[in-house]
Amino acid sequence: MKPSLTGITLEELADFLENRGAASYRAKQITDWIYKKRVASFDAMTDLPNELRAELGMEFDPPKTEVVRVLGSKDTTQKFLFRLRDQNLIESVLIPASPALYGQPSDRRTICVSSQVGCAYGCKFCASGLDGFTRNLDAAEMVQQLIEIEKMSGEKIDNVVFMGMGEPLANMKNLLRAIRIINAPWGLGIGARHITISTSGLAPQIRELANEPTQFRLALSLHGATDEVRGKIMPVNKRYPLKVLLEACDYYVAKKGRITFEYILIAGVNDTDEQARELAKIARRLSAKINLIPYNTVEGLDWSRPSRPRQEKFRSLLRKHGLTATLRREKGDDIAAACGQLRLQWSDREERPRR
Ligand code: SAH
Ligand code: SF4
Repeated sequence: MKPSLTGITLEELADFLENRGAASYRAKQITDWIYKKRVASFDAMTDLPNELRAELGMEFDPPKTEVVRVLGSKDTTQKFLFRLRDQNLIESVLIPASPALYGQPSDRRTICVSSQVGCAYGCKFCASGLDGFTRNLDAAEMVQQLIEIEKMSGEKIDNVVFMGMGEPLANMKNLLRAIRIINAPWGLGIGARHITISTSGLAPQIRELANEPTQFRLALSLHGATDEVRGKIMPVNKRYPLKVLLEACDYYVAKKGRITFEYILIAGVNDTDEQARELAKIARRLSAKINLIPYNTVEGLDWSRPSRPRQEKFRSLLRKHGLTATLRREKGDDIAAACGQLRLQWSDREERPRR
């Protein structure tokens, strides 16, 4: 299989051209076609010599990611279901301007990107892991989610969160390549501070990320403030218990300055006063801000979100400890916007792709 065009970097194009004795300024011309004008075929690259277009066509594939379904409307959360070239399904969510989402100002359109087909980590509350893990997305398939959604919605995306299906840190190489392309001035040109990676807590990879120079942001899906509670809902906690995880986070924060916590509130599981106090300790240790997210119902799973007063109480306990905690009103609950859900509903109706 040839590599896809939307996963290629300026430097690789420069090498490609040099090997063929073509002029090096062409590299920038080509990235402009791919990432700025966003054409889907080599024939459309009209200022390139025919011979070069043919050579590119032999080496690379045009993008083959196709939107097969859109849910929601323009001023609400919109969900996009994509079919990949091997027929697997993934999804992305476009979230309109939203106050206090990941600490960004309120005028941002955020896209929630998938990094894998399915997920191997099997958190007990999450739809993405229900069907197990199929495969990693390549960088082109991650970048393509942005390109297609901008094309279809007519909106300029200014904030990217890797919070769709999959565990991004289990697909590190492709993730970093995708971020490079999304961030580069010759690529999509989105500032690194507007790119957030979310992880369920892979300690060694968090350390690895700490050594990356790009200033993207990191969100840690904590969801439990003691091993007992976290271990109940996140199997990954057995491999990397809080002690190991938090030491990796200490290292990350020392190197890169800041980490944000995601904390889903699930009734009767992790929403007690005791958990709030333990969470406050951890957040203070890492100077972390906390995004509280009321649990989004997943069909077939028995969890539920706490009452609104309980959610408020949990937040006020954190605030009493001097911490910054936001309580997100989950957008798009009605269109199954919690990641992984749309794919499940859809693939129940169609024949599921084979693994
Ligand atoms: N695998 C990574 C990124 C994808 S999940 C991670 O776990 O962080 C993105 C976020 O959605 C995580 O914080 C995850 O815990 C949360 N999430 C999963 N299922 C959810 C649900 N049903 N309701 C609310 N948030 C959910
Ligand atoms: Fe995977 Fe994240 Fe869902 Fe856990 S929450 S199953 S790590 S996608």
